Amino acid sequence: MKPKLVLAGLGHGQLEILDRIEEICEQYDVRFIGDCQTIYTGAFPQVIAGLMDSASVRSPQLEPVAKRVLSIDPIQQTVQTENGMFEYDQLVLATGAKSRGIGTPLKPMSQALLDRIESSSRVTIVGGGKAGVELAFTCARTKNVTLYAKEILPDVPVHTRKHIERLLVKTGVMVVKQAFHADASEGLLLDATGVVPMEWWAESGLAKPERFIETDEYLRHRQFTNIYVTGDMASCLNGGVDAVRSGRYVGKRLLKETSRLFRRRQSMNILLTTPGHALLTYGRFTWHGRIPYYMKRSIDSRYVRHYK
Ligand SMILES: Cc1cc2nc3c(=O)[nH]c(=O)nc-3n(C[C@H](O)[C@H](O)[C@H](O)COP(=O)(O)OP(=O)(O)OC[C@H]3O[C@@H](n4cnc5c(N)ncnc54)[C@H](O)[C@@H]3O)c2cc1C
Repeated sequence: MKPKLVLAGLGHGQLEILDRIEEICEQYDVRFIGDCQTIYTGAFPQVIAGLMDSASVRSPQLEPVAKRVLSIDPIQQTVQTENGMFEYDQLVLATGAKSRGIGTPLKPMSQALLDRIESSSRVTIVGGGKAGVELAFTCARTKNVTLYAKEILPDVPVHTRKHIERLLVKTGVMVVKQAFHADASEGLLLDATGVVPMEWWAESGLAKPERFIETDEYLRHRQFTNIYVTGDMASCLNGGVDAVRSGRYVGKRLLKETSRLFRRRQSMNILLTTPGHALLTYGRFTWHGRIPYYMKRSIDSRYVRHYK
């Protein structure tokens, strides 16, 4: 009998695993819990900017047995869902994390959220990290935008930070460099302050309260080593690029193609700024211009085409 493999959530990492589902099904009895489609975050701002029609990507040909993980019993090796309980020998978690809770959450992302943003003429964005800044630039093409951020792009060198801040103002974004107060929002309020853990992780004994899930160097849960953790859920991972890499790695582990440790790597990020321009960041290296823009367009359209 094949071991039972449960794949939970359609996060960026899980898409990489589902991409190899035929090979995986040869070795495991596979069940998938989650939605049939999800939003690819790289394309999310491009839809807002009118550069892409859709940011939706689909799971390749695997009917879900349920839509939502409600809890997990790692001792009994079961997953509780709205459709009953499923046993597993191996479990892959890719259900992502959630926004902090200021106004309208950006995570988990959905088509309904994209529709709401597109139909709003005024938005207030809280958070000056990469997601908040890219959203501000793309929303400013068609809307009145206020961006609350104590600092703009705190991880990039000062000269780039200042340049981007000047561009934001030139584009018409009202940049408010102070902490956000709830009564100060105008229009749709978007939370780009980063993600926090979901309550069910701690309730299921997978993490300490309000903490991300700790993994070993193979991305397995530290205590329950038959559970792999990908993407934002894992305390050692950060961002969509890490999520994709972690899924690719776990896919190889499931297929016994690698016995190596998961190698953490510096991620390259590219964010849209003014029309035809983007900012590429790689550690302390930054490059603002047209070439990063074309790189982003090409990477993201290839990705969306692949999973359409
Ligand atoms: C506006 C914005 C732009 C961003 N742009 C970039 C970027 O350009 N580059 C980059 O590297 N990162 C970017 N990020 C970060 C990136 O979105 C996340 O790091 C990435 O999505 C994490 O992927 P994940 O696999 O952890 O899960 P997610 O992509 O969050 O997906 C989780 C999935 O699981 C589903 N789910 C949730 N709960 C359950 C449950 N209980 N049961 C079943 N399914 C569930 C969700 O609906 C969702 O489909 C951006 C973030 C934001 C907010």
